[in-house]
Amino acid sequence: MDYKPLNGREFPRFSAIKTFFRLPHVPIDSDYDIGIFGIPYDGGVSYRPGARFAPAKVREISSLGRGFHMSRQENFFEKFKVADIGDCPTVPIDQIQTYERIEKFVSEVLVHNKKFLSVGGDHSTTLPVLRALRKKYGQPLALIHFDAHLDTYPAAWGCEYHHGAFARHAVEEGLVDPKKMIQIGIRGPLAGQEDLAFVQKHGIRVVTVDDIRNQSLPEFLKTLPVFDQTPTYISYDIDNLDPAYAPGTGTPVPGGLTTYEVQRIFRALRIPNLVGGDVVEISPAYDPSEITALAGMDALFEMLHLF
Ligand code: MN
Ligand code: MN
Repeated sequence: MDYKPLNGREFPRFSAIKTFFRLPHVPIDSDYDIGIFGIPYDGGVSYRPGARFAPAKVREISSLGRGFHMSRQENFFEKFKVADIGDCPTVPIDQIQTYERIEKFVSEVLVHNKKFLSVGGDHSTTLPVLRALRKKYGQPLALIHFDAHLDTYPAAWGCEYHHGAFARHAVEEGLVDPKKMIQIGIRGPLAGQEDLAFVQKHGIRVVTVDDIRNQSLPEFLKTLPVFDQTPTYISYDIDNLDPAYAPGTGTPVPGGLTTYEVQRIFRALRIPNLVGGDVVEISPAYDPSEITALAGMDALFEMLHLF
């Protein structure tokens, strides 16, 4: 199997079957190094729905995904075998069954020690992914969490597993080590001061947009944590970006990061043991110019280079 993206000179970028980065679509047990897959589920949203359609939209916009990283001076797709391994099975009207299927699917990817990136899906889909990783690696993970929101909020309408609670459950279930966790792009408004109690109690490092903008970008990048050999996961909620850059999302919050700032943050991260990552909360119906999906694809591209 030749794991190269389709050549745009041979097949123009608007043509051919849509896959992530125009890569070959292969079975989950093939011999790729890094598998990219979709998790089309949005049963955990509290406001705007639609993230279930994100994997298809990001595949479509992936037509524009070129391979050579200009800052890094390398073509990742030449060095590693990357593939589209399809979509994780989901049950649109049943979260329990969906969680079981996500955990099973991720476990199958991990059987052969492969790495992966996924495209959600709302942010509730990250929890079963972390459960599978925790079982595989036998220790709590380090977590880099991009988001406008803390996602440590209490149950909503009596339901625990909504899209604003994955981070709390991940800490409470021992899936991640809160001391090796950083949240980037956080901003208000919050429901109240008590929303901060959880992160303060667990010593989670919260980086607000003010924290980033109150100094020059290069100065801020020097403050990013140094990661060790702990298995590390990146969860990228697209709403960390300002709605000007990512309007197509479930719960947009003004005053966010720019796509350029996020690129610079990705390029400054040093992660010796990245095991997986996701891009969540893209809602194509609210993304008429497709810039949100484009920003999601760009985040995937930057994350690939962290492996
Ligand atoms: Mn969010
Ligand atoms: Mn989130």
